[in-house]
Amino acid sequence: MLRIGLTGGIGSGKSTVSRLLAERGAVVVDADAIAREVVEPGTVGLAAVVAAFGDGILAADGSLDRPALGAIVFADPDARGRLNAIVHPLVRDRAAELAAEVPDDGVVVHDVPLLVESGQAADRGGHAHDLVLVVETALDTRLERLVRRGMTEDDARARIAVQATDEERRAVADVVLDNSGTPEELAAQVDRFWAEHVAPRLG
Ligand code: ADP
Repeated sequence: MLRIGLTGGIGSGKSTVSRLLAERGAVVVDADAIAREVVEPGTVGLAAVVAAFGDGILAADGSLDRPALGAIVFADPDARGRLNAIVHPLVRDRAAELAAEVPDDGVVVHDVPLLVESGQAADRGGHAHDLVLVVETALDTRLERLVRRGMTEDDARARIAVQATDEERRAVADVVLDNSGTPEELAAQVDRFWAEHVAPRLG
């Protein structure tokens, strides 16, 4: 099995690359989706978050009140660290479980927006990924695309400001895709990536 770690800043086109890789036959394990799943009502994850932050972070229906929790951790790096210490291991375990279902001759793509921020890129000792693929796009283009998708420019800038920088992502990348061009140009780069880096390793 080939394990690819995929990351990119918000608005870079990471989700688009993830879809293109799925079309080529990769199994995508989506860290954001898992991060929601592990704190659904009735999970040990949600119980742990309530134990740490109180039931003020619960909505009336017993689900996680994300804005309430977000307000706490956005303002307080220690709180953010405590939350990550609960959620990250649960996400990693579930991602590993899903990846374990992929056959030996398959390709798994771990789609992890915060691969760099959560320290997983450095996890070479744990053999988390055989290859780290980074999607990079010029800042102005990312802002334009995020605004077109319905975000305000201030929100987009604020989100980008708390993420890793292009330099930090590039430092952990084995391969960088540049999505400053057209969707067709991006698809051509994904084809080239598959031909040069994926197909040869599948034997
Ligand atoms: P991310 O997952 O990195 O936040 P997405 O793949 O969702 O990024 O892309 C952000 C937005 O930009 C989406 O609305 C997407 O359709 C659009 N987009 C992605 N790549 C391109 C491109 N090459 N040209 C124009 N729009 C693009």
